[in-house]
Amino acid sequence: GLVAEDPILYCARVAPDRQAVFEIATGRQLSYAELNMRIARCAGFLDNILGARRDGARIAMLARNSIDSIVLAFACQRVGAVYVPLNWRLGAAELRPILADCAPALLVYDEEFSEVVASLADADPDMAVISTADGPAGLAARIEASVTADPVSEDADRACVLLYTSGTTGQPKGVVITGRNAFFAAVNFSFVGEIGPASVALCDLPFFHTIGLIAVARTTLMLGGTLVISDRFTPARTLAVLRERAVTHYFAVPQIALALRNDPAYSAAALSGLHALFVGGAPLTQALIESYLDDGVALVNGYGMSEAGTVLHVPIDQRAVQDNPGSVGLPAPLVDIRIVGEGGHDVGPGEIGEIWLRGLAVTPGYWNKPAETAAAFTDGWYRTGDLGRREANGFYRIVDRLKDMYISGGENVYPAEVEAVLASHPDILDVAVVGIPDNRWGECGVAYVVLRPGAVVTGEAIAGHCAVRLAAFKRPAHILFVEAVPRTASGKVQKHVLRQLHSDETL
Ligand code: ATP
Ligand code: MG
Repeated sequence: GLVAEDPILYCARVAPDRQAVFEIATGRQLSYAELNMRIARCAGFLDNILGARRDGARIAMLARNSIDSIVLAFACQRVGAVYVPLNWRLGAAELRPILADCAPALLVYDEEFSEVVASLADADPDMAVISTADGPAGLAARIEASVTADPVSEDADRACVLLYTSGTTGQPKGVVITGRNAFFAAVNFSFVGEIGPASVALCDLPFFHTIGLIAVARTTLMLGGTLVISDRFTPARTLAVLRERAVTHYFAVPQIALALRNDPAYSAAALSGLHALFVGGAPLTQALIESYLDDGVALVNGYGMSEAGTVLHVPIDQRAVQDNPGSVGLPAPLVDIRIVGEGGHDVGPGEIGEIWLRGLAVTPGYWNKPAETAAAFTDGWYRTGDLGRREANGFYRIVDRLKDMYISGGENVYPAEVEAVLASHPDILDVAVVGIPDNRWGECGVAYVVLRPGAVVTGEAIAGHCAVRLAAFKRPAHILFVEAVPRTASGKVQKHVLRQLHSDETL
């Protein structure tokens, strides 16, 4: 059944001629029948090189988005192997522990990353490496030369993807995604995104994150829509493609939504064909939300994570967006949510607590990390480490990460709130606030501020901006001007890097 199998199989049966994928970089496109055939051949290729070892084998990929990334991902599921998309923005030193953790039988890579791969392949002589480059030894030629393989009888509880977290709070953790998890994550997103056979979804978010690989790619292909695959984000090209390919669904992280909006080529007309613009993965400023709403773009803010896929989203009804500024909306249909306070008790409407989740899309745990898995689950509930609250009308808000909250003079400070105030200053381009030890207050805040190019503003002026908008205990004690704040590939601020920076400087 569909819960366990590669979802392409269904559409290949019922709508073989419909367009499944289009690759912007090459103009290549495949129908569902063609995509299915290519996946079947790729499954044959995996059978060939893995043989009896294929069961549960990890197949890692260090490559930009392409049709063959999708082909390899679904071929893994067909043969009972596990697809591990790696973050190509990481360097060798960061990838080495990830490869040591998942110990792939095969690593498929783009030539662009060949230096990194050369240094990594030495470490593990058992790992086969194959390039995506053209030529007889490349992935495409190997797929085309293989005979098709039938799907193995599937078990919905078997892992099909291993997705490493962004590493925002520390080392990335491998999240085990079973066939069941992937299926229900896609079902969840199909409701949230109102995705169906007529949808054309553009994905320029990398397939190594849950949004790109699961929410966008899997959902669209499961429902028989068309997936437009982009290997990189450049605002001008995205704006052109939205029009040329009549895209109905586009997905961005806040950094990308901002870059798109600020690009000289931006026009509201370019986005007028969108059913919705989905933004999620990190906090979104109110100013950006409003600038899109003013242009009549149906921006939908959503909250989710590698461990559970889409969890909360604002309905694609623009009244809901306007009436609930700053909200991440309502639960997706197949997730149960609790807001839990200290002592493990659910808190009431409006009160802040940790977000706990349960549901068919939620991971069984982290790869190779029994202690972290045990620490993240309580009575079958996944503890997200995020703080949130539910308003009386059922809409949720994300407050901050539990790890980033600090206590100053006995009061909880949520850096995200302080950052939102700072970000509303016209001269501030980017900002991150972290709590540091303080003799007098226990902890106090440091604001790392990036000014807009050409802006001239003093620390006192910024402190003044905070003073009229924030209670004294929330105001950052130190304001430091920096060139940039450290971010992950998905645009999230790495606070642990800033905290480390601070403690190194103090030593
Ligand atoms: P790591 O777990 O390695 O520290 P990560 O949590 O950033 O990294 P992901 O699974 O990619 O890795 O991201 C999920 C997290 O992103 C959520 O737990 C939450 O903290 C944050 N997030 C997601 N969506 C939103 C949103 N709309 N607003 C604010 N934060 C969000
Ligand atoms: Mg996380």
